[in-house]
Amino acid sequence: MKRPKALALVSGGLDSTLAVALVKEQGVEIEALNFSTGFCFTDHHRAMKSPKHNLRNEALRAGADLGVPTTVIDISETYFDDVLLNPKHGYGANMNPCLDCRAYMLAHARRYLEETGADFVFTGEVLGQRPKSQFRQALITVARESGLEDRLLRPLSAKLLPPTLPEREGWIDREKLLGIAGRGRKIQIAEAARRGLDLDEIPQPAGGCCFLTDEAYARKLKDWLDHHEQPRHDAEAFVLLKVGRHLRLAEDVKVVVGRDEAENSFLSLHRRGRWVFWAKDFTGPTVLVEVARELRWEEIERIASITARYGHGREAERVTICWTVPDGADEAFPQVDARPVEEIDVLPAALDSIEPLRV
Ligand code: SF4
Repeated sequence: MKRPKALALVSGGLDSTLAVALVKEQGVEIEALNFSTGFCFTDHHRAMKSPKHNLRNEALRAGADLGVPTTVIDISETYFDDVLLNPKHGYGANMNPCLDCRAYMLAHARRYLEETGADFVFTGEVLGQRPKSQFRQALITVARESGLEDRLLRPLSAKLLPPTLPEREGWIDREKLLGIAGRGRKIQIAEAARRGLDLDEIPQPAGGCCFLTDEAYARKLKDWLDHHEQPRHDAEAFVLLKVGRHLRLAEDVKVVVGRDEAENSFLSLHRRGRWVFWAKDFTGPTVLVEVARELRWEEIERIASITARYGHGREAERVTICWTVPDGADEAFPQVDARPVEEIDVLPAALDSIEPLRV
């Protein structure tokens, strides 16, 4: 008899790892899929190359630990238009369109299943764990909208849900699956430990692994959407929203201030097309300015004083701030590193004058 083949949606967190272990021990052949939306922590940490962050892809790590081949599928190009901009089921607490997002990923998984001849798909979803996307009706909606219907199994809550095709066909013994509901993690931890899974290796982030659930990121993304008449997928812009303090000086002027060395170097890589400010004689932030016109002199003074405030010269009487105009603004200096450097002496701005500008 042919061994059934399943596709697993895996993030590398506790639930999806345990789901893979549960299905694998029933003799099913498994391929793990991990979808990259462009808003995942992993993508960002890799882009930042920050020594503070773990750079490994947890889904690949989980696949390797469980002996399961793992395929990362990049859906970021279409995700913005198809899901994020106008989600049919709305957003969660922040900018996270979880229900639409799950249905979208699972629809991709269904197409992959049809191409590869796999038999069913499973996830680590737990009934009632997330209020917006994992209540009973949401699980049913996602199964329907993805086109998977009853080819979609949730091994961690299976005993609380109607039997699915792999259970009815006898590919999976329903009795060996679990009946977990709710937000607690105790049962998952106990079941993972019982199977010898290394809990120290499995990340258990409280807020998931997606920037769209992050309040500060959601505010910046909303501000970006509000200031673009016809917003389109923009990978660079979405990464920059994760970096630095964002200050809105005017409807058409936004300032991004690096908060540490890793952010400063990251921002330096994105100088092209932007004004750049930095302190001449003190350690301090790299500051990028996003504006599609010439800055006025008073705006240059203001940004220079903000740059001074966040550097080591914040207590000084005057701080010399350098700046360059965007490449292309001066035809004589088309190269980003060949732009002429201007200077201005300023008094560091008071913090309470900056606070209202925060996005
Ligand atoms: S947390 Fe992010 S990746 Fe996960 S379902 Fe919600 S929107 Fe999608």
